[in-house]
Amino acid sequence: MPDREFLESYPLYRKFRYEVPNYTNGLSKPRINMECEDCGKFETFVMVNDYWEVTRVVNTSTSGEIFRLQYVCASCQKFERYFIIKIDEERGWISKVGQYPPWSVKTDANLSALLGEHKDYLASGLILESQGYGIGAFAYYRRIVEETIDELLSDVGELLAGEEKETYLTALSAVRKTRVTAEKIDLVKDLLPPILRPDGMNPLRALHEALSEGLHAQTDENCLTQAMIIRELLVYLATQLAASRNAAKSFTDNMRKLLDAKTSKS
Ligand SMILES: [Zn+2]
Repeated sequence: MPDREFLESYPLYRKFRYEVPNYTNGLSKPRINMECEDCGKFETFVMVNDYWEVTRVVNTSTSGEIFRLQYVCASCQKFERYFIIKIDEERGWISKVGQYPPWSVKTDANLSALLGEHKDYLASGLILESQGYGIGAFAYYRRIVEETIDELLSDVGELLAGEEKETYLTALSAVRKTRVTAEKIDLVKDLLPPILRPDGMNPLRALHEALSEGLHAQTDENCLTQAMIIRELLVYLATQLAASRNAAKSFTDNMRKLLDAKTSKS
């Protein structure tokens, strides 16, 4: 049954649209890839119990049922993960109602560095996200963007050169004049360097859209999706910026060494 992505990444109580088979015999046991705390890395986990263990009847109806899924790390055969899954009466969705070890999103090291003093907001946002409180999570992530956007946008400028950099810096001076985050992003979103545009996608434009959607009249579920998009975009931008900076530094360091060696020889 439960889709792999659902088990690996969905927070508690978030509905996963899924056409659930009528009977437990139709439910599959997908392998999942998650962190093993004993092995210290991501490993394949396999489901080792059966769905009928809970209902105690072989091949029973799935409607409204709650199942306990026991997974064990395929590598060490020791570390276990548990999921409690609730099936909709109409079999139109499933959701997690329990998970051990608790659902978590790894606090990304690059994002923490970018956030600095604001990283407590990330922790709060993640807790709300894990419980399915979308409106709350969205508010925290939006606050993070508001408080870090100036630094983020000026970091982007470092990746540009020549005429493109000039254009960007001009836009950036306009950015500093507005206090509205969406406007700031709007001013520079089309000037992003190609290295920050995976598959032609523009993360700043996506961030702008997610923020503009706002909280107005949105359900908790919609806000949760927007919140997750904002978090993913922040992680992506922070990671790419850090990687580009490190690559540039390593290049200049190595080049300097080569040039120094050449000078001392001659
Ligand atoms: Zn293991």
